[in-house]
This record gives sequence, structure tokens and C-alpha cells, in this order.
Amino acid sequence: LGRRINSAVADVSKANVVDESVISGLLKEICNALLESDVNVKLVSRLRNKLKATIDAQDKPGVNKKKLIQKAVFDELCDLVDCHQSEIFKPKKKQTNVVMFVGLQGAGKTTSCTKLAVYYQRRGFKVGLVCADTFRAGAFDQLKQNATKSKIPYYGSYTETDPVKVAFDGVEKFKKEKFEIIIVDTSGRHRQEAELFEEMVQIGEAVKPNQTIMVLDASIGQAAEAQSKAFKESSNFGAIILTKLDGHAKGGGAISAVAATETPIAFIGTGEHVHDLETFSPRQFISKLLGIGDIQGLMEHVQSLDLDQKDSMKNFSEGKFTLEDFQTQMGNIMKMGPLSKLTSMLPGGLGQMMSQVGDEETSKRLKRMIYIMDSMTKQELKSDGKIFIEEPTRILRVARGSGTSVTEVELVLMQQKMMAKMASSTKGMMGGPGGAGMPG
Ligand code: GDP
Ligand code: MG
Repeated sequence: LGRRINSAVADVSKANVVDESVISGLLKEICNALLESDVNVKLVSRLRNKLKATIDAQDKPGVNKKKLIQKAVFDELCDLVDCHQSEIFKPKKKQTNVVMFVGLQGAGKTTSCTKLAVYYQRRGFKVGLVCADTFRAGAFDQLKQNATKSKIPYYGSYTETDPVKVAFDGVEKFKKEKFEIIIVDTSGRHRQEAELFEEMVQIGEAVKPNQTIMVLDASIGQAAEAQSKAFKESSNFGAIILTKLDGHAKGGGAISAVAATETPIAFIGTGEHVHDLETFSPRQFISKLLGIGDIQGLMEHVQSLDLDQKDSMKNFSEGKFTLEDFQTQMGNIMKMGPLSKLTSMLPGGLGQMMSQVGDEETSKRLKRMIYIMDSMTKQELKSDGKIFIEEPTRILRVARGSGTSVTEVELVLMQQKMMAKMASSTKGMMGGPGGAGMPG
């Protein structure tokens, strides 16, 4: 999706005259790309009209069209998933907050329940988990295991088959014990949907949740809309947790779910581990959807670690990325770990390449890349890499000096080039000095 949208935008900048037909061609291309990423038709058409209006309104002589369009696309997509609230669910201390989870089987409810419990426990809340999934054999054991590992008190039954009763009893027990957050996990069996929704209504009536959260698998695509609408009707959830965003799914379907139910995404699941829960950031989500890499996340992470920053991030936001910047970033990445998580944020195919091999192999490859850059001269490092194309013998020298191969050196050069290209194309979007700036 990102590649298509970015290349469509790039085509505009190649056109000599950016007239009405170029713009409408671009909008068509962007809309097709969105449709293919499982964004709903009606939504895309609304987006198209809004984009057109924005572009027309801001189209004044002297305005950089390419930047204007890029920013408009990014902003409009962010707007679709942004509820403009800093925190969607605000549990109160010294009160009972009942949270009910709904969603289809396999969506990630039980996993996310524990994640959320840990999230709030770390923030000083007294949290309990209730297993109201009496349908799936082993459901209680799974919750029990997760809860025990994370030291979260839990409630469930091996003998009671009525999920409404278990939910009610569990919530009552924890209420008496003055728990502040009580999370109710439910079943999500595929079989007999009407029955499932009826069960959700009944559990909802029994435990009277302060908040209901729907868990949605990011990879379900177009089905997201119908599914979330059905759950909205039966359990009127007020927030969404989007899971499995660590995989290949970019979550285009989630945009439709948000729009169809007018309900915000509160958290995203980024792995099977209990700590793989992040608060949802519209800008990061859309960046990933558009394939511009999670530069913002990477920047924040780097900044938080007090690493060797030099001027590389400043350069990047100004649209430049030299080999030296690459060297600095690689060095930082080596310090940061765990690699698998971080590399997924890297743009330019680097993340994908690395997610295909293990952490150990990734680390080995990164080290070799660092050796390569360590073997370059200051002049080479300060350059944008063209110097190697002009004088190819430099490549051979660096390969020998670093004990690597010509192919590996070429790969480093290629990746730096991709990053540089990315820097120049996201320049206006990153809000750095000289950029157009982003709200928020
Ligand atoms: P439930 O049926 O809705 O309760 O789903 P589960 O919590 O049992 O999760 C189903 C599967 O998805 C399990 O194997 C989980 O480990 C996995 N899972 C849940 N959330 C995530 C996530 O954010 N990322 C990944 N990679 N896997 C997840
Ligand atoms: Mg479950």
C-alpha cells in the first residue's frame, strides 16, 4: 500500500504541470491502493472527497504540491483512526472498574486480558481476571497460566458451565475484595454466531461493565467491518484492541472497523508476550500502513535511550541521510536490543530482511555492516554514497578492509540509499526543521 501511494505521489512531482487530471489520477491511484488494503469502499470515497477539498483549498501558487498531497493523505488517514482523546479508558483508583472483553475466538482476547491486567497492575491498580469462557476446553487453564505467571489474581470454574454465572460470581468476589479493575474474559466461538452475541448481552447485563473492549485481529481484512458492527450491537463496546500488528498485517481493515462503529482503538498487541501491549498512536499506525516505517517510534526510542545521536536524526528530518548517519544508527541499534522488535520498525526493507532471520543472525549481519562502515574514510562517510558509484574501487577497498564481501558493501550502500530516499520523501511529514510540520 505504502509503496503504491508513495509512488503515486512521486508521479505527481514528475509531471510538468500538476493540473486537474493529474490530481484526479493520483486520487484514483490512492483510493485503489486503500481498497486493496481492505479499507471499506464508502470510507474510501469519503476520504477521496475530503482529500480533493483539502487539496483544492490549499492549492495556492508557490505551494509544493507533492508535499501538500502527501501531508493531506497522511492527515486524512490519521483523522480516520484518531479519536482525539489522550486516554480512552480512564479507570479510577479506589473504585471498581469492570472491563469486559469481547471478540471472536483466536482474536487474542485471553492474551490481551492478561496484558491489560499487567499494564494496570504496573500502574498501581489492584487487578483481577475472570474467565467467563466456559465453552472452549482449556480456556480456564490458559487464563490461569497467564495470570499466575504475571501474578494476577484470577477467578474461574472447571465445573460451572454457565458463563453468565461464572462472570457474575467472579466479579462479585473481586468487588467484595475491593479490586479496582476486574477484567472479564469471554468466549468467542465461531459456531452459532447468534448464540454468541446473545451470550455477550447476558454477560453484559450480569456484570454491568464500565468498559467493554472488542479485540480485533489485525489480519482479518474486510471482515473487520461486519464483525465489529455485530459486536457493537450486542455489547456496545467503547474501545478496540487491535492484535497481531507484529505480523505482516498492517491493519487496513481496522480503519473500517473504527469508522463503522465510531469506536477508537485504545491499544495494539505487538506480540505474544505479556508486555507486548502499546497504547495506540494514530500517526505511527498510519505510517506503518503507508509503509514509511515507524520513524517516529524509532526516534522516540533512540531519544529515550540517551545514545550517540550526533546529527543523524536532525539530518533525517531535514531530508538527508549520509553513510555516517547510517553508521551512527547501526551502532545505536546494537546497543538497544531486543533486535527483533526494533528492526521491525526499520524502513527500507531492512526490517523485513532481518525479521526473516533470527536475532543471532541479525546481530551478526548488523555487526558486519558496522565493520563495513568502520572501514570507510571520513570523506566517504560524510557523503551520500555516490562517491562509491563514481569510484567503484572504493567498494573493493572497503570490502577488503572490513573482511567482508563486495556484495555486502553494496548492500550497505543500497540500504543507505533507500534510507536517504525515505528521508527526502518523508521530509515534509516528519515536522523537522524545514519540513511542513505535523499537528499534534
Ligand atoms: P482468544 O481466543 O481471543 O482468547 O485468543 P488468544 O488470546 O487465545 O490468542 C490466540 C493466539 O493469538 C494465541 O496463540 C496468542 O498467543 C496469539 N496472539 C494474541 N495476541 C497476539 C499479538 O499481538 N501478536 C501475536 N503475534 N500473537 C498474538
Ligand atoms: Mg480465549
